[in-house]
Amino acid sequence: MSDEISIEVDIPKDENGMLGRECLECERYFKLKPGTGLPTDYCHCPYCEYEGSADTFWTPAQLEYAKSVALNNVYEKILRPALDDLTKSFKDLERKTRNSFIQFKVTKDNFASKLPISYYNEEELETQVTCNSCGLEFAVYGVFARCPDCKNLNAFLIFSKSIDTAQKKLDIFLKPDISAEIKEDSFKHIISDCISAFDALGKELRRIRPELFHSRIKNLFQNFYALNETLDGLLQQQHSNFDFVLKMFQVRHLYEHNLGVIDEDFVKKIPGYEKEIGKKYTLTSSEAQHFIVSMLELKSIIENYFDQDNS
Ligand SMILES: [Zn+2]
Ligand SMILES: [Zn+2]
Repeated sequence: MSDEISIEVDIPKDENGMLGRECLECERYFKLKPGTGLPTDYCHCPYCEYEGSADTFWTPAQLEYAKSVALNNVYEKILRPALDDLTKSFKDLERKTRNSFIQFKVTKDNFASKLPISYYNEEELETQVTCNSCGLEFAVYGVFARCPDCKNLNAFLIFSKSIDTAQKKLDIFLKPDISAEIKEDSFKHIISDCISAFDALGKELRRIRPELFHSRIKNLFQNFYALNETLDGLLQQQHSNFDFVLKMFQVRHLYEHNLGVIDEDFVKKIPGYEKEIGKKYTLTSSEAQHFIVSMLELKSIIENYFDQDNS
């Protein structure tokens, strides 16, 4: 008999076919669906920089389970037959010593009949993602992550989803049975939702590659003017509606900090409204619609900039 025994253990998936994974480096947990994504045995942690063979991503619970199943296998295949042989020898001994001065007795419960298996449950996670680059289905804590197969960042995908939601909201608000008052009020929420999503995208991009966005401004992606400066005028050069987007960012600022009333600061940044100081800026449905489309164009520009430099 060789000294090494190899036993294959099948690690169970959860009810949705997802396999739990844990990073060696940051020890954070995620799940993925085997059979989707790239045909690879290589895996990247969605949260940190660690990458390695898929075999290095077993969770402690899975390893415990595998160990217990393997031990049981060894017990069934090797130890039990050996023990049975031993029991048989003892029985022979028992028979032979029956009439001797020293007697031998064997009872059944000397040996456990089975070893316990360490069962476990996979955890529930917050965000389910289907990678839009390789198709891998995976689940993570939080919202933002990288695809474990192709390393594609889901931040842009999450942003697009938020913009989709804004579009759906707008479609509902534009229905004829919604009152004019509610309609008007809803447009500022649409603008605000889009900018919040853009800000969240920006924070994630800056966290991953701070060197691409050199600025001391904390909420840089809420400040379109400063963002454009930081990117050396890239947005002004490439966005087909730069002035409009700039204006909407300022309008959002007005609504957030001045109940939508036009002030000196607004006029300084957006010329042409001098006579409107003290009046409320009234958003229109076409501005809201136009802004949604403009945000998707903005996303493409930022994505190209981010990917181009990502070597
Ligand atoms: Zn990690
Ligand atoms: Zn992917």
